Amino acid sequence: MIWTINNKEQEKFLRRKAAEFDFNEHSKKEIRELIKNMRIEMAKAIGVGLSANQLGMDMRLFIAKVDNKQYSIFNPVITKLSKETIVMEEGCLSVPEIYGEVDRPEKITIEGFDANGKKIKIKAWGLLARVFQHETDHLNGVLFIDKAKRLRKYEKQEKNREL
Ligand code: ZN
Repeated sequence: MIWTINNKEQEKFLRRKAAEFDFNEHSKKEIRELIKNMRIEMAKAIGVGLSANQLGMDMRLFIAKVDNKQYSIFNPVITKLSKETIVMEEGCLSVPEIYGEVDRPEKITIEGFDANGKKIKIKAWGLLARVFQHETDHLNGVLFIDKAKRLRKYEKQEKNREL
C-alpha cells in the first residue's frame, strides 16, 4: 500500500527526511526482496518511480523504471544540476488525483549506491532526470505540490506521470 497525504499520519511521515540506508543492517537477500516488493507495488500503481518512504519505510532508497530500464538507488545525492530548467507536468502516487507543472533542472548527475553497496554515478536528462529529482525530494520529505505551479485535478491516470 502506497502512503498518501490523504491520511494525516502518513502525510507526517512523508514530510520527514528518511534515514540513511545502512548496508550492514541488511543481508543481500533482504535487499533483493525489498527491491522486488517495491517493484511490485510500483507496477500495481502504474508508477515510474517509487521511494521507500512512500511505502512507510524509513530508508533512503528509491526505484524507477524509465524506457524499460530498472533503477534502484540507495542513499542518492544529486551532485550536479544544469542551469537550464524545464517545465514538465508531474503526478505523484502519494498525492492522489492531482497533476501540476514543476520547473526543474533539465540535466542532473546523481550519485549513490546500487543494491550491492557499490558506488554509482548516473548522468540523466529528460524523464529520467525528472524521476530522480522527484524521488530524491521524497527522501528529503519534499512533495511536488510544494514546488508546482498550476495544479489540476486529473480525470484519469496518465502514463509516465506518477512517481
Ligand atoms: Zn511522488
